[in-house]
Amino acid sequence: MSYISIYRKYRPQSFSEVVGQDEIVKTLQNSIKSNRLSHAYIFCGPRGTGKTTAARIFAKAVNCLNNVDKNGKVINPEPCNECVNCRDITNGMSVDLIEIDAASNTGIDNVRKLIENAQYLPNFLRKKIYIIDEIHNIGGGTTKAAFHALLKILEEPPENVIFVLATTEPQKVIPTILSRCQRFDFKPISADDIKKRLKIISKLENIEVSDMALNLISKYSDGSQRDANVILEKIASLDDDKVKVEDVVSLLGAVDLEILFELAGILIESNSEEAIFFISRLEKLHQNLEVFVEKFIEHLQNLYFVKNNPNGFDFINSGEEYREKYLDQSRLVSNRQLNEFILIFMDLLNKIKLGQPAWILFRSGIIKALNIKIEANGAVTQKLENSVRELNERFDNFKDSFKDVLKIAASSGAQSTKTDDVMTKAVARENTENSGNAKVVRDEEKPAAKKAETKQKTHPATGSEITKIEWEKVLNIIKNKSVSLNSLLLEVKKYNTDGSKIMFYLPDIYSWHKDKLNSPENKELVRSSLNSVMGKNFQIEFLLENQGKDLVDLRRGNPYKERNSEVGEKSVIFKGSEKSTETKKEDKTDNKEKEYEETAESENGIDETYGYMEKKFKIKE
Ligand SMILES: [Zn+2]
Repeated sequence: MSYISIYRKYRPQSFSEVVGQDEIVKTLQNSIKSNRLSHAYIFCGPRGTGKTTAARIFAKAVNCLNNVDKNGKVINPEPCNECVNCRDITNGMSVDLIEIDAASNTGIDNVRKLIENAQYLPNFLRKKIYIIDEIHNIGGGTTKAAFHALLKILEEPPENVIFVLATTEPQKVIPTILSRCQRFDFKPISADDIKKRLKIISKLENIEVSDMALNLISKYSDGSQRDANVILEKIASLDDDKVKVEDVVSLLGAVDLEILFELAGILIESNSEEAIFFISRLEKLHQNLEVFVEKFIEHLQNLYFVKNNPNGFDFINSGEEYREKYLDQSRLVSNRQLNEFILIFMDLLNKIKLGQPAWILFRSGIIKALNIKIEANGAVTQKLENSVRELNERFDNFKDSFKDVLKIAASSGAQSTKTDDVMTKAVARENTENSGNAKVVRDEEKPAAKKAETKQKTHPATGSEITKIEWEKVLNIIKNKSVSLNSLLLEVKKYNTDGSKIMFYLPDIYSWHKDKLNSPENKELVRSSLNSVMGKNFQIEFLLENQGKDLVDLRRGNPYKERNSEVGEKSVIFKGSEKSTETKKEDKTDNKEKEYEETAESENGIDETYGYMEKKFKIKE
């Protein structure tokens, strides 16, 4: 390879080569062609997006000797790159093109003098061009003199001078300068555009590079063509026959998007066999796990955005070719599953950052995530939730239509038996249909889905009980956001709820804690965390234990015990005669006990699966 760097060699020399800034190029070309040039321009935008490159091309286009007719009218707004003016500018030899880097402190007096010289006519070019990079730095500190000189010139610009200012931080440029410039905002270059340019360069340089490696470089360079070119150059110098993804990964510590899709796919499918294969391949790549896990969390978040917002792609910087892939994968995963994955890998990341053994943690995290499907299979859970909701609606309709009958029944012993008969039938029907669902689940061997369903069945109307596991999840989420709030919450032992509001209770001596917890920020954080775990918005209040009754323990062993008494209370609503209420209550209680057994059984099932997975992994290792 010849040793002008790729970055310099392939720096665009005409507007047609500028990547990803079509509108800016068009506007500049139009103003050149119609000879409506401004005295000062400001190019704003992230680094590597082509601001100073565009400024140089602009300088050539307004000075080129070959793009004008004999009257001096511009016939082509592109520079020829062959005339003496174009060549001098390209080679940095023109005395009339003055480039200043305001970020460097060298030659402050020179800078002032150079700017003051703007009042003199150009020596050779038609227009004297000043390109001042990182202009926001010129306003402060030691370069104040230069700043005043610039401001003075901008106020009364000489005829044959054009200033092109560039900045990555336009918000730091003072308004007196901004208001005197025509402003252009350069966008980060899309991964697709970067890849196209890399393809051209690698072809011209005879660098053989795999398509996946190109994808990775374009994505990794984060909107900067300059960075992408530098990376390509570094990797080409590795003296390999072909640039492969692995090279990019090991050089940059970068993470291949394909690998992220692959891992997400494995976890969504709960494919333990592939998972083992995946882990061993990842080890061979010498992947930095901290970087990898961080990128994987980002990938899961991207899936969430794409899944839940039609404009989700605005939030992620993905190449065009990945859009379909994101959409496809997001359809296969439920929000709950994504949430579980993110929690697992966030926890993993925190531990890795603390210096705990990364690979062991990573393998354990994968095993944990593989088993999430059982707990939160989107498809199955969704189906069950829908049918439970449907049943509830039907039951509500049924209740409504019999409201009047029930009223009469309540005041008349004669009709009560009949009504109860109807009610019992309805309950029976509900149970039959629900047990039908449970059978489907059993057939598919999804113990935790069964658990979810059981939960719905136990408490269909509110879904507001907090299980021990849910409460632990809430605490975990909060721990990641506020350690102090988490430690306050550790004193909360009990709660009760009316279905829309949850009252949390602290022992009577914790009045200071109670007040802290009731601050709006803390309540909001608890509310949002509860919402993300339970999928429902509750109002929140913290109280002392002597302020409430019928409190439920947040860490209770049997979460269904309290529910039975609630069901008992519910049946009172439909009370017709003492006897039949008693019977129904017993029936329901029987059911609850059966369900609790089922739940215990299914939780056991998870443990078994987990143990099995652990064994399997150990054997394979
Ligand atoms: Zn020229």
